[in-house]
Amino acid sequence: MQEFGENIQQAHDEKLGRHLVASIGIEPGDTILEERPLLVAPHWECHQLKCAQCLQESYVICRRCQVFPLCMDCNQHDEFECEFFTSGAGKALCKDILVKNFGICGLLKLLLLLENPSTKADCQMLIDVPINLSDYRDGEGMWQEHEELVVRPLMESGLADVLPTQGLTSDALHAHCIRIDSNSFEVTAKDGDTLKGVFVWGATLPHHCVPNTVVALDEQFNMKLYAAVPLQPGDIIYNSYTNPLMGTSQRQHQLRLSRRLECTCSRCLDPTEMGTHMSSLKCKECGGFSVCEIDSNGKLGDWRCPDCRALLTAAEVHELQAEVGSALVDAMGDLQVYEALLTQYGPLLHPNHFMLLDIKQNIASILRAAALMNSMDQPCKKLLARRVELCSDLLPVCRAVVPGISKLYAIGLFEYLLALVELVELQFAESDLSKKEYVAHLRTASLVATEAMDLLRFEPENSAEGYLADRISMELERIESDLKKYGR
Ligand SMILES: [Zn+2]
Ligand SMILES: [Zn+2]
Ligand SMILES: [Zn+2]
Ligand SMILES: [Zn+2]
Repeated sequence: MQEFGENIQQAHDEKLGRHLVASIGIEPGDTILEERPLLVAPHWECHQLKCAQCLQESYVICRRCQVFPLCMDCNQHDEFECEFFTSGAGKALCKDILVKNFGICGLLKLLLLLENPSTKADCQMLIDVPINLSDYRDGEGMWQEHEELVVRPLMESGLADVLPTQGLTSDALHAHCIRIDSNSFEVTAKDGDTLKGVFVWGATLPHHCVPNTVVALDEQFNMKLYAAVPLQPGDIIYNSYTNPLMGTSQRQHQLRLSRRLECTCSRCLDPTEMGTHMSSLKCKECGGFSVCEIDSNGKLGDWRCPDCRALLTAAEVHELQAEVGSALVDAMGDLQVYEALLTQYGPLLHPNHFMLLDIKQNIASILRAAALMNSMDQPCKKLLARRVELCSDLLPVCRAVVPGISKLYAIGLFEYLLALVELVELQFAESDLSKKEYVAHLRTASLVATEAMDLLRFEPENSAEGYLADRISMELERIESDLKKYGR
């Protein structure tokens, strides 16, 4: 584990527990924290064996301990892990412990980190955070999955008996599973599979729906946290654990489910959601927009039109949202159905409503896939133009909900860029655009590409975002060479 830099320091209070604050002014892009993961683990439901060392697909078992999977590239894994089953306390346990129940892999690794004197202190920080099991036991969520895939197989394996100092009851194991779930970041293995990465300091970052930092994760699972906006001394370092393109009710539901958190951040208390109106509905009386009434504890009430005071009850709004939600599920990737949903529900909702954004994203990604596969009968200009329109609708919302350096906005710009270039190239080739018009569009595309690359410049080279930046830079070169040919 690495220590953090001089620009931040530890703090503690009752509400947030242990957390980090800026100790000096920090500029956007400045690195705040770099950390190796404490633990990288497959998802509980993963059936494919993964190498204990690099987490790629595995087809062989470590010859020494005969317990942990390895891959063709790795011939060993963590010494303590291996030793534990070779000649340590786990020697007598059944060698099939992991192969039979691969779901236990993440928790087994955590228990061995806790057992290992050289990693115990790092784990302790994570374990010290109390978990109120009664919040999780009967509610919605993961309890049953943890029980079947992890806790029961581990209890039956006899592992608890050979780790007597850890006092492993089935409740203690459930608490560990919840700690892993609620503290993990999604990391991507070299083979493209997603995994759970747990970072000791990363886990202390409190949630804010408008985070002031960006989390970057590379292929070696290293985390780099950098400032998204200017930070003042004393500012709390936040991360976001929700999708910024969700509306307040959706984000709050997800936070309750995954972290038992009632968010009262500035976005959650703002009925307009930073001016985007992502949860606002069309007022039936005056054609204005009804916004949700939110009390100071972040509790959502009814919707009211600020212009004519007309009321829409929370129950009516929830009913409508459930109706659109199930229509979205039924649409099953059908372009025409999504377009029909936009026509049907568009007039009832604010144009930026999160459900309309969801439908628009679905349509844009279908059109993108169709263009990639060349599956449109002939690349139809109407569909390409539709894609440009949808991508451009999403841009102002992406810009508003994640201020400062934003991967979300960079990706939005990239999608818009691809759609625009494809359209104008075809229009120019078919003489729908004059040279002058084409050049004007290319100039716009060049600005969009430059802005997107600028937003990704702090990302590590060997990360998904790093590769995206390379891709955009290639696109920019192509645009510039066309500009040279036709324009400048
Ligand atoms: Zn490996
Ligand atoms: Zn081994
Ligand atoms: Zn919030
Ligand atoms: Zn009204």
